[in-house]
Amino acid sequence: MIILVINCGSSSIKYQLLDMKSDDVYSLLAKGILERIGMPMSKLTHKPTGKDPLVLEMPVSDHKVGMKLVLDTLIDPVHGVIGSFADIDAVGHRIVQGAEYFSGSVIVDDDVIDKIRICCDYAPLHNPAHLLGIEAVSNVLPEITQVVTFDTAFHQTMEPAAYMYALPYEYYSKYRVRRYGAHGTSHLYVSHEGAAFAGIDINNSKIITCHIGNGSSVTAIKNGKSVDTSMGFTPLEGMIMGTRCGTMDPNVVTYLMKKEGLTPDQMTDIMNKKSGFLGMSEGVTSDCRDLVDRREAGDKRAKLILDKLVLDITKLVGGYIAEMNGVDLIVFTAGIAENNPWIRRDVCANFGYMGIEIDEEVNAKARRDNAIISTPASKVKVAMIPTDEELVIARDTMHLAEGRK
Ligand code: ADP
Repeated sequence: MIILVINCGSSSIKYQLLDMKSDDVYSLLAKGILERIGMPMSKLTHKPTGKDPLVLEMPVSDHKVGMKLVLDTLIDPVHGVIGSFADIDAVGHRIVQGAEYFSGSVIVDDDVIDKIRICCDYAPLHNPAHLLGIEAVSNVLPEITQVVTFDTAFHQTMEPAAYMYALPYEYYSKYRVRRYGAHGTSHLYVSHEGAAFAGIDINNSKIITCHIGNGSSVTAIKNGKSVDTSMGFTPLEGMIMGTRCGTMDPNVVTYLMKKEGLTPDQMTDIMNKKSGFLGMSEGVTSDCRDLVDRREAGDKRAKLILDKLVLDITKLVGGYIAEMNGVDLIVFTAGIAENNPWIRRDVCANFGYMGIEIDEEVNAKARRDNAIISTPASKVKVAMIPTDEELVIARDTMHLAEGRK
């Protein structure tokens, strides 16, 4: 079954075309990204498997035009990988926010679209773009089955004590202000993949997954179900990130708004786009690689930021060990945790008291492929598992589309 996986942003369309034989037997036919939609010059980077990559620069006015360009490129005689649109069996979309409406992937219909639209209120930057993506696909492929997979769905198993804020209850009743979490597709994937790789029965396990990338979150997973996660009402809550501040005393928000005369939108922008690595480095970088280079060159600010990164992860992992009354497996994933062995080592060093032991040599080499980085004597297994959110979307899309036939 050929599945097109789409991740639509406000000015971009990321895509992967996968040939799914089964959950575990599949091949990537092509992937790519169309960026700067709606700007004077857009850029398509298309990478067909086994062929030369293609980079196209041209104006693309909106998502409909963009989706047509992506689909046309997939069937292009030179750069394409399939013969015609009819070869695509179904399309799966990544959706950031599904709130309390969705605890799993579903086939798109009018009711689903209405609910995703209601959730735009909670994810104003993302959900409207996802809706544009669904509409753009319908425009070119009106008959195709479309499936939506939500970043929040995996965390719908959290109990009220984990998802409620200690605000007046009426704000939950009126507006559904609560913790939803994010990165659910990634936490789901790496917990299952990690458990299988470590020889642990997911249905009888306590796992902590650390997704540390540009956006970062840590999740506690008991018997395969998310019981707590560090992101909250929006992805701003939790630990330090590339440009997000993470958790802080909420009074800081109103204090700064008064002091600096900031509007709510300006403050939201500062906390989401101008804080974290970028803000603490005074605008130098939001990229962990630059911080590592600068720390190596003796830069004290870079060291402070990276120390805070390790401390924030440590506090979350420690809290979740207590919350689950134990842990069998800790998994590290995403851009930062997959590529920086020292983070995995430094976080785990803080749990030496409870018998976690890292194999320094294996850890230093672990990159790109699944790896167990703890020693055989370690009381808890620790793994590095590269995440693959697109694969989860493709699997769900395949199953739902098969069920429809
Ligand atoms: P996103 O949340 O946007 O998906 P990623 O998971 O790709 O982000 O993570 C991006 C982060 O990963 C950046 O801070 C970057 O510095 C870091 N990163 C990516 N590749 C490497 C690498 N080879 N070495 C060190 N850090 C890396």
